[in-house]
Amino acid sequence: MQINRRTWLLGSSSLAMAGFLPACTTTPTSLKPVAQTISAGYVQHKLGNARITAVSDGVTKRALDAGFVRNAPLPEVQAALAAAGLPTTHIDVPYTCFVVELDGKRYLLDTGFADNASPQTGLLHTHMRAAGIDPASIDAVILTHMHGDHINGLRRKDGSLVYPRADVFVAQPEFTFWMDDARMNAAPEAARGGFQAVRRVFANYPQDKIKQFVPGRQIAAGISTIAAFGHTPGHTAIAVQSEQKRFTFIGDTAHYPALFVKHPDWQVQFDMNAEQARATRHTLLSRLADEGGLVGGYHFPLPSLGHIHKAGSGFDWQPLT
Ligand SMILES: [Zn+2]
Repeated sequence: MQINRRTWLLGSSSLAMAGFLPACTTTPTSLKPVAQTISAGYVQHKLGNARITAVSDGVTKRALDAGFVRNAPLPEVQAALAAAGLPTTHIDVPYTCFVVELDGKRYLLDTGFADNASPQTGLLHTHMRAAGIDPASIDAVILTHMHGDHINGLRRKDGSLVYPRADVFVAQPEFTFWMDDARMNAAPEAARGGFQAVRRVFANYPQDKIKQFVPGRQIAAGISTIAAFGHTPGHTAIAVQSEQKRFTFIGDTAHYPALFVKHPDWQVQFDMNAEQARATRHTLLSRLADEGGLVGGYHFPLPSLGHIHKAGSGFDWQPLT
């Protein structure tokens, strides 16, 4: 069953307010099985009164070279991939955004590429519609950080805004870092692309739509943020709580799970402060393993939702089935 925004709202709040239904029935319960929807590019899960939808923006193939994991020899990295039953010559890098429906609002966590990259990406809206979610109904976007693969989906190649009516929440230290012209000009040529990508999206973005927040603070009732610095200076995880159930989107705290959840000491080449990122990875994954809640990761293959368990010196990723 596909449930659009209107029927969901009518089916939930108005009936609940009228006293016909207890509040705990406010979310659609008839979700399709995980295996059935992966081929359509999404996976849905009920979380208390909220609904979480992992939505793929696409997957790109990246040749595996010795630089991908900074601090592990290539044969060890290949062995880890082989142990997970994966190809050892390349990595199929997924880009997975999440839609959170809570208290009648729709939040999009990270945005993919829109039409700014290869045809293997920019599939977010096709997959959202397959899940019964109208992209125009997004009320707010929350960013984990400002690397291009997470923010490009806010603005199309022609300059138009993808979510013109949505507020865009971004961590204050992240925004300050990337929008600092002096820092950009002082950066080596090779490091300027990241700053320019941020300006393509955020220069002239309507200022009243940008909502900077302090990592650790709440964004709305039931939606909190967790400082997870290291991958970028203001990298932030996002947690959703409903009826004692918890979902945490870790962004790029751990990049590809078969490598960086399994081996949290390994540092992906995109970690800007590699040592801080390593420490954050241990702390956050350990906390999530203890909590036992639902977890989502951006570069995690669909279902992209699952649980973290402690395993030896690292962790295991157990995807939803
Ligand atoms: Zn990323």
